[in-house]
Amino acid sequence: MKDHLMSTYARLPVQFERGEGVWLWDTEGRQYLDALSGIAVCGLGHAHPSVAEAISSQAGRLIHTSNLYGIPLQTKLAERLCLLSAMQRVFFCNSGAEANEAAIKIARLYGHGRDIECPAIIVMENSFHGRTLATLTATGSRRVQAGFEPLVQGFIRVPYNDLDAIRTVAGNSSDVAAILVEPVQGEGGVNVPDPGYLAGIREICDQQNWLMMLDEIQTGIGRTGQWFAYQHDRTLPDVVTAAKALGNGVPIGACLARGKAAEVLQPGSHGTTFGGNPLAASAAMAVLDVIESGQLVAQAARLGTQLLTGFTERLSALDGVREIRGSGLMIGIELDRPCGELVKTALDCGLLINVTAERVVRLLPPLITSEKQAAMIMDKVSDLVRDFLTE
Ligand SMILES: *Cc1c(COP(=O)(O)O)cnc(C)c1O
Repeated sequence: MKDHLMSTYARLPVQFERGEGVWLWDTEGRQYLDALSGIAVCGLGHAHPSVAEAISSQAGRLIHTSNLYGIPLQTKLAERLCLLSAMQRVFFCNSGAEANEAAIKIARLYGHGRDIECPAIIVMENSFHGRTLATLTATGSRRVQAGFEPLVQGFIRVPYNDLDAIRTVAGNSSDVAAILVEPVQGEGGVNVPDPGYLAGIREICDQQNWLMMLDEIQTGIGRTGQWFAYQHDRTLPDVVTAAKALGNGVPIGACLARGKAAEVLQPGSHGTTFGGNPLAASAAMAVLDVIESGQLVAQAARLGTQLLTGFTERLSALDGVREIRGSGLMIGIELDRPCGELVKTALDCGLLINVTAERVVRLLPPLITSEKQAAMIMDKVSDLVRDFLTE
């Protein structure tokens, strides 16, 4: 299809026009089971009545005023997020990359405050942090960076899930101001670190006076079976970024911080026109309400275990399946070969899935998925993988 859009995306040959819960309908009227949630965005599924009601009534009242003025809903949303995360202050923006940009700027100001001339941030191999210049530099993928040189200075890369590598940097460099890391790597292949990894990072950051910054853009807002993934580890970062699921599809991002990190940004040092406007804040408030009243965080944990156990029983003995792993409703099935074509095969069978890092089938079903629907996902995906490996 030749149209007037920049060819940023290799899009699948389907267009959706309607959704309800875990279901989507395309322009031909075909129905699909959505096991991807618009990449971890629509945690409440599609066309959730409470979100629809919140944004339509807010749209009829007030959409935008700018951050030149107080925004009561934004203040309330910040309070609510801080209660859920144990953070103290929030900066609202419009996307994940922007939330990470705010975190990176906090790290730099914090570093300069400690008299580091060129403050550096430790980032990980195979990480993903966004597509702006600073966040693509932080991203551990040549594919994302290629052609956009010169990259931004001040990032030091180490292997994921390797505390010793971080300790080595601590021994060699006095320029580090912060670590930025995903609690579970999403785009990098649903890589789940060993238990104690985040606690180990916390310990090093405390010893070195570094900020511990977690990118929870994919893992946050209930996805892994806790509001934030660090809550599994009973550890507390200094900075957390969130976005994807926060507005259930209405663009909103947030950079949360506590302690000294929460006091770094001052009037004039950062800002945004749209961030946290009444419309976006109303969507996020509705999202938090629905997750809380439906106990959907616990549901994500329960369904995640059901799916992980089910896939392990059905697939782990198959030749060609390397590993099945996940955290809550973030599930990866790693094969021994590239399997991108599975996305199209699944689509033809009425199922939306994703393949990341070339050979990892990634599932991010909505938090509102029922047990019966989870069983359907399990059946369909198991069949697809088995057929693919034995064809
Ligand atoms: C999606 C994602 C981002 C980027 O978010 P955008 O809203 O696309 O800018 C950053 N970090 C992680 C971990 C993500 O999954």
